[in-house]
Amino acid sequence: ADIQPGDKIYAVNMNKCLVMYQIGKKPMKDGMNILGAHIDSPRIDVKQNPLYEDSNIAYLDTHYYGGVKKYQWVAIPLALHGVVVKKDGTTVEVNVGDNEDDPVFFISDLLIHLAGEQMDKKASKVIEGEAMDLIIGNIPVKDKDKDAVTAGVLKILKDTYDFEEEDFLSAELEIVPAGKAREAGLDRSMILAYGQDDRVCAYTSARAVLEVGGTITDRTACCILVDKEEIGSVGATGMQSRFFENMTAELMELMGEYSELNLRRCLTNSAMLSSDVSAGYDPAYASCFEKKNSAFLGNGMVFNKFTGSRGKSGSNDANAEYVAHIRDIMDSSDVVFQTAELGKVDVGGGGTIAYIMALYGMNVIDCGVAVLNMHAPWEATSKADVYETMRGYVAFLEKASF
Ligand code: MN
Ligand code: MN
Repeated sequence: ADIQPGDKIYAVNMNKCLVMYQIGKKPMKDGMNILGAHIDSPRIDVKQNPLYEDSNIAYLDTHYYGGVKKYQWVAIPLALHGVVVKKDGTTVEVNVGDNEDDPVFFISDLLIHLAGEQMDKKASKVIEGEAMDLIIGNIPVKDKDKDAVTAGVLKILKDTYDFEEEDFLSAELEIVPAGKAREAGLDRSMILAYGQDDRVCAYTSARAVLEVGGTITDRTACCILVDKEEIGSVGATGMQSRFFENMTAELMELMGEYSELNLRRCLTNSAMLSSDVSAGYDPAYASCFEKKNSAFLGNGMVFNKFTGSRGKSGSNDANAEYVAHIRDIMDSSDVVFQTAELGKVDVGGGGTIAYIMALYGMNVIDCGVAVLNMHAPWEATSKADVYETMRGYVAFLEKASF
């Protein structure tokens, strides 16, 4: 194939992850500048045998996905998104709850009047995972004494989407907070929205690769958006999959540059920003942060030299030489940035996809946008931080040469 500097090439993996390249002037073996983010978010998944009825209420049984405070997900409007794939291979898309006139769904919580015992429980036990079942119907069909409400629900599913109960077996249905992203604050300074971990970094990364479309970069610019980060980057669509490596090999083959050694050189000579959200300093929970090394909403793009927990366990720790190079790029591009770690030592911690890409021997640093209420149904960010982060990503793609 005739591939020229400036060309844009992308590949999709199982409709769940994406890698985008804009070809640079230098050979691939000199390395790429890579932005990587994840596009899955904590949520509640529908089980494979989900439908049941109790006391005139039809339910979908669920299994939550990722790290959630379960008590935050009850008694709020929820939407249902996903696919049902039938045996003949046809895919039915389901999106209910996010249009103004759509119905929504909910998980019930016990009324405060009877909650004396519940209120004494540990927060992790207040709502049990197995009790997080989604309420989806209440009208029984006529002349049926058993499962009359689920019969009505199944009729609606058949009429609207043309699938049967057994098709839930091959469905991926995800329950998420219903409603659009909103401006927050009288000064409209912030965004309150579901799933900003990590779409606030994924969107800006994808935009950054498109922004550099105006210029042809020295090194190939790459953006990788992956699935399954919230459950450990596992599986064929998570960062641990060989998809990214395989697609890079395919691209080099198309460019006439492929050899096993050239691929290894490309990966090890690349530089990466692992784009993920960071914990925003929360004055209401000040004791969980160390103020000198915290990220503040409104103070710009956040760099985390290292992540991990309890003695940096599970961390990616960026080399000082690479951090110096990144500082120089951000300063010379007038990008407002701050540095932080995820909370006070020994309080907790977390990880990203950074350590997986670092296995290739490339330089990787974590960076992104500070978030309040991370992993809650509604997460908050500062608009100014989102803007600076995108500028930082563009500067990195244009200037990194490490
Ligand atoms: Mn994340
Ligand atoms: Mn997360």
